[in-house]
Amino acid sequence: MSFDLLVKNANLPDGRTGVDIACRGGLVEAVEPAIEADAGNVLDAGGKLVSPPFVDSHFHMDATLSLGLPRMNQSGTLLEGIALWGELKEILTVDAVVERALKYCDLAVSQGLLAIRSHVDVCDDRMTGVEGLLEVREKVKPYIDLQLVAFPQDGLYRSPTAEQNLLKALDMGVDIVGGIPHFERTMEDGARSVQRLCEIAADRGLMVDMHCDETDDPMSRHIETLGYETQRLGLQGRVAGSHLTSMHSMDNYYVSKLLPLMAEAEVHAIANPLINITLQGRHDTYPKRRGQTRVPELRSYGINVAFGHDCVMDPWYSMGSGDMLEVASMGLHVAQMTSREAIRYCYECVTTHPAKALGLEGYGVEKGCKADFVLLQARDTIEAIRLKATRLAVVKGGNVIATTQPRQTQLALEGRPDSIDPADYAPNEG
Ligand SMILES: [Zn+2]
Repeated sequence: MSFDLLVKNANLPDGRTGVDIACRGGLVEAVEPAIEADAGNVLDAGGKLVSPPFVDSHFHMDATLSLGLPRMNQSGTLLEGIALWGELKEILTVDAVVERALKYCDLAVSQGLLAIRSHVDVCDDRMTGVEGLLEVREKVKPYIDLQLVAFPQDGLYRSPTAEQNLLKALDMGVDIVGGIPHFERTMEDGARSVQRLCEIAADRGLMVDMHCDETDDPMSRHIETLGYETQRLGLQGRVAGSHLTSMHSMDNYYVSKLLPLMAEAEVHAIANPLINITLQGRHDTYPKRRGQTRVPELRSYGINVAFGHDCVMDPWYSMGSGDMLEVASMGLHVAQMTSREAIRYCYECVTTHPAKALGLEGYGVEKGCKADFVLLQARDTIEAIRLKATRLAVVKGGNVIATTQPRQTQLALEGRPDSIDPADYAPNEG
């Protein structure tokens, strides 16, 4: 019995320790202690964490790595970002979109990020971003699952050609229906756009993922319409509401009525902690709102919550490195989810929860799943977040596609150790 890849002595996210993982033909064939078998490649995990790959449920790959083009966002607001992106769109070329997106995907692989849902702006009659990202989706297929959302950035009704462009993008092969109801001119137009977009998705058998209520306005209640339309059209489990930042500022009684609707509609909630904490609350003096949606409350209703990266070095956000552990870390800080089990939950918000929202098949380090995983320089998921742990090896289909040297510092201090490994600082937990 010979395997393609045998991983020895791994810890798993669910707390199992010291297991071996045997892979063949691109699949995991066994996860158990002490597997004795030949393998083409043996990877010693050394008691470190082997996790299914990171999944980013919300990204903008048509804009990534464009920071500074054609200028910087001076106010730091969402609205200046949208205006700036409008200037850049005019001069965008397919080649430039493809080049930047592929460069980002290289970085994603190095970070163990192997599935990404990216919105692509369809409010450009030339369809530059759509054409570029469809090409990228094919090019990266061997190593990244890239889902594309037709995103009418300038508003389905606010922009005169948005609807026809959105339908064209879906005809061209874009996977998912997007929207931006809070950016329409009136609340009524916003609600109408949600209804229309959900009908398009239902007609075509597609999923929905809308930028929904990305505002500090507590009266922005398009998530209610989204939940309602999801149920009316039988789209349960296939609809995601992204951002949902107005929920942060909503009246508590109203939220107590909204959460059960979202749970019944099985709407996935996607928060974008890095972006929400920087873009929201910009009109506040002090106290300044955080703007992140109500993660612990959504969780308590059994609603599937995922954290997205949203932006890396683009008109909205000048930071970011494709590191979903940084995203999880910001999410848990902003939500004050600091208990041990809540931190583990935040790890799931960048792995299993987005995998569910994206409908990924064969995801997980389990027998019969795809042999896709990441070896981290950390003992467990809490340590992984705390350390933003180095991705020692990234495995796709049973092949190692990226490796990074462990982080280790040589010390020159008298009477102290010669070197330190950050993973050695894990606490003792019974
Ligand atoms: Zn977004």
